[in-house]
Amino acid sequence: MKPDLFTFVAGIAVERGDPIPITCNCDSVITIMPPLQEELVVCPNCESRIKLLVLTGDPGYVMGRAPTGEPILIPVQGSSPEKLAISDEERRALLEKISKDWGNTTH
Ligand SMILES: [Zn+2]
Repeated sequence: MKPDLFTFVAGIAVERGDPIPITCNCDSVITIMPPLQEELVVCPNCESRIKLLVLTGDPGYVMGRAPTGEPILIPVQGSSPEKLAISDEERRALLEKISKDWGNTTH
């Protein structure tokens, strides 16, 4: 079975042991309970299989690439609200930095 989607989960949330709400691409929320028994959850609404990738600590966001090739920030679910609440300005600055870094490594 292959996962359809994947999402990032913050390690601190797993260690804390509280239920973690995972938002699917269809906006349904699936609540998972640590310790994670399954690294795949199935969305009850759209039946997507979602693979959970646990990242250590409290990363807030990770960088990713949109299908268009544009850098995007992917929220790490379960990160602390302070880490996730970045202003538009901070978001823009981060994306600019990412574009620059990628530009440097690919040329
Ligand atoms: Zn779904």
